[in-house]
Amino acid sequence: MNDAFKSVKINGESQGNENIKEKILVMSGKGGVGKSTFAANLAFSLALRNKEVGLLDIDMHGPSIPRILGLLDEKVYGEEGSIVPTKYRKNLKVMSVGFFTEADDAIIWRGPMKHNVIKQFINDVVWDELDYMVIDSPPGTGDEPLSIAQLLGKGTKAIIVTTPQDLALADVRKSINFCKQMSLEVLGVVENMSGFVCPHCGTLTEIFKSGGGRRMAEEMNVPFLGKIPIDPKVVEYSDSGRPYIEAVRDSETAKALNEIISNLDV
Ligand code: ADP
Repeated sequence: MNDAFKSVKINGESQGNENIKEKILVMSGKGGVGKSTFAANLAFSLALRNKEVGLLDIDMHGPSIPRILGLLDEKVYGEEGSIVPTKYRKNLKVMSVGFFTEADDAIIWRGPMKHNVIKQFINDVVWDELDYMVIDSPPGTGDEPLSIAQLLGKGTKAIIVTTPQDLALADVRKSINFCKQMSLEVLGVVENMSGFVCPHCGTLTEIFKSGGGRRMAEEMNVPFLGKIPIDPKVVEYSDSGRPYIEAVRDSETAKALNEIISNLDV
C-alpha cells in the first residue's frame, strides 16, 4: 500500500455518505480506454430514468468530465461552508476539480492533498439525496481510487473499462485485484473500442483485437458486461460536450452502451 495513503490515517473513515444509495466507481488500468466517456454516459443514462444522480470526477490531473458534458465554463460556488455542484440537468449534479482550475493548469499535489480534496468532494458538496453516485477515477490504482474506496467505504461497486488488447488487459487484472483488496464489489468488465463496423460496407474490423475482456473477466472470476464498438461520433459528441447516448440512439455503439447499462445489477 502506498506511503502517501498510509500517512493520512484514514482507517475507518467513511462517514458522510449515508445519503447516497449506490456508489459506482468507474476504473481502468490504462488511460484513453474510454473510462470517462463511459462514466458520463452511465450517469446521464441513470438520470434519464428519473433517478437522482451525482457524477464525481476525481481525476485531479486530467479531469475530462467538464469537457464531455459541455461544462467547461462552469464555476462552482460555496454556500455556508458547502460547495454547490454544477448540474447537467436537474437530476444530474456534477463535481470536478476542473471547475476550480484553468484548462492548462498543471496540478502538483501529493497523495494527502488529493485525499483531502476528495474528502471535501464527498462531505462538503451539497449532493442531497442521491440514488446513484458515479465516480470517474483516474486510470490505475493510485492515490485517488485508494482514497475514494476508503472514504465511500462498504457497498461501493466498481466497473472496469478496458480495450481488448493484451497491453491494456494486463493492467485490468491489477484493477480487479485492487477491488478485491479494498473489498469493492466488481460489477464487471466493459470491453470498449471493441471492433469497428464500416458504415459504408458493413465490414467489421477488429482494430484492437476482440474478446480479451471476456476471457480476462472469466479468468479473474468477475462478470463480463459487454463490448462497445468504436464509433467516431463518440469523439465528436464528447468534444462538443454532449453525452453520446443523448445524441445518438440507434448505432451499434449506442445500443451496446444502453444494453450494458440496463443490465447492470444496481
Ligand atoms: P479515459 O477516461 O479512459 O482516459 P476517454 O473517455 O477520455 O478515456 O476516451 C478517450 C478518447 O476515446 C476520447 O476521445 C473519446 O471520445 C474516445 N472514445 C471513447 N470510447 C469510444 C468509442 N467506443 N468509439 C470511439 N471513440 C471512443
